[in-house]
Amino acid sequence: MRIVFIGPPGAGKGTQAVRLAEYLEVPHLSTGEILREAQAQRTALGDIASQYINDGRLVPDEIIVRVVAQRIEQPDCDQGCLFDGFPRTLPQAESLDALLAAQQQQPLDLVLNLTVDEEELIRRLVQRGRVDDHLAAIQERLAEFRSLTQPVLEYYQSRGLLHNIEGSGTPDAVAGRIRTIVDPILQSRSS
Ligand code: AMP
Repeated sequence: MRIVFIGPPGAGKGTQAVRLAEYLEVPHLSTGEILREAQAQRTALGDIASQYINDGRLVPDEIIVRVVAQRIEQPDCDQGCLFDGFPRTLPQAESLDALLAAQQQQPLDLVLNLTVDEEELIRRLVQRGRVDDHLAAIQERLAEFRSLTQPVLEYYQSRGLLHNIEGSGTPDAVAGRIRTIVDPILQSRSS
């Protein structure tokens, strides 16, 4: 299965994405994680990415798309993968479709959008209390997320791939909601 997992900062997307990838037995492809690893290893990609990440900016689409193209060519992605943190912009979403078609991979099966009410998100992020989590920075990140991601959501909505998941409640409750969407697709595959 090929799934895109979308959610604002503080929605618990990382946790749910890891759980879902384990459940589906597909690689969890987090572009943020790939970039952090490249930074730690001081590769050319890592050094370029640092210039953007350290300023709180998005890495340019061409660079991210190249990273994803290389990653999905790996044999462990043959049976699918779960994209986390990508695509973040409309050009990235369009490039992903082109990449999957060019590499003769199956198209996306599903896009999950984890939704949490904005007041609750702010409360969670403030509680997390990291240095970059002061209120003005949080509001700015949420606003940026909204403006960039909205066209991506509309793109997937128009193609009938988008499912919104209510992200409030315990992690188990959210995982249960996700499975009610994913299980019928799994069942239709195995029959
Ligand atoms: P994340 O862990 O997904 O929040 O990503 C950490 C940082 O990596 C982001 O703040 C961006 O600077 C960069 N990044 C990760 N994924 C992308 C993407 N799809 N497009 C652009 N920049 C990205």
